[in-house]
Amino acid sequence: MARAPLVDGHGRHIGDVRVSVTDRCNFRCQYCMPAEGLPWLERDDVLRFEEIERLTGLLAEMGVSAVRLTGGEPLVRREFPRLAAMLAAVAGLDDLSITTNGFLLERDAAALVEAGIGRFNVSIDSLQRDRFYEMTRRDALPQVLRGLAALAAFPQAHPIKVNAVAIRGFTEEETLPFARFAREHPYEVRFIEFMPLDADRSWDHAKVLTGDEIRAAVHAVYPLEAQPREPNATARVFRFADGQGRLGFINPVSEPFCADCDRIRLTADGKLRTCLFSLNETDLRAPLRDGATDDDLEQIIRDAVWRKELKHHVNEPGFIQPARSMSAIGG
Ligand code: SAM
Ligand code: SF4
Repeated sequence: MARAPLVDGHGRHIGDVRVSVTDRCNFRCQYCMPAEGLPWLERDDVLRFEEIERLTGLLAEMGVSAVRLTGGEPLVRREFPRLAAMLAAVAGLDDLSITTNGFLLERDAAALVEAGIGRFNVSIDSLQRDRFYEMTRRDALPQVLRGLAALAAFPQAHPIKVNAVAIRGFTEEETLPFARFAREHPYEVRFIEFMPLDADRSWDHAKVLTGDEIRAAVHAVYPLEAQPREPNATARVFRFADGQGRLGFINPVSEPFCADCDRIRLTADGKLRTCLFSLNETDLRAPLRDGATDDDLEQIIRDAVWRKELKHHVNEPGFIQPARSMSAIGG
């Protein structure tokens, strides 16, 4: 059944939902989680596969056509490929993607491709083993690179994106190696500006290495040419002038892209969030489990989306960091 499009109070049509399938993770990235981890959700509090399927199906009826699966680390959720296959079969969804740290990709790449995931983002912050360990608190670079190679063997999985969080004092040393990596492999490397969503709350403006700074440093060695920006795209994409590869820059701090943001988020415990930086969220799990009809749920979702924030306030005095950190929201 087709429903009216999902539109917010500022006239933006919602087309994309990020679904967190777990708050758990096998890494402890400095910019995301504390070394000791976080208090995990109880199993019962996490949405079941059928509940996620129902909510995404309802969103698809309202015109949401893209679902990105994330976490925590999505691949630590038991039987995750079965969920991916369930969602790939939802009518109206035509873009199913995943963001993963890659640690379990060697095990899962074939199952994920077979399940129907069409686009893959793999997070890698350093191409040097010791520095990767420093950032993720796991000595896992070789395993992640093996996972990436396992995935790359499937033509259907391309183009593969490799995401690196850019932090001043750390990432400068990584920029040229990543540029070469993007030139030598069929991966688009994308730098993401560090955002105030870390559980340790050690973010500050001075730690944001901006996309523009990285682009200039790369351009001085390997000239870059801007590519046209696609609507609702989060990344500014450049190609190397000699045609050998591409780089992307996701600049939510220095160049916010809120004006045409078409995204909402569903947390692992069934809360709808209309912005990464939302201070309020809307519970969908309780009504879902209390017997709400699809029409009831539609109304709750519409009311929440109507109040979607015009923009984030990261660059303004008085900015308040949300209580949830990135792994508990679903980045
Ligand atoms: N565990 C998976 C992974 O790391 O790819 C998926 C979840 S993770 C929260 C999603 C993305 O958010 C990753 O690319 C990660 O690097 C990024 N991220 C986490 N904390 C961040 C922060 N404070 N600022 C910017 N990006 C962040
Ligand atoms: Fe885990 Fe991803 Fe957060 Fe790193 S960024 S701790 S891999 S959820």
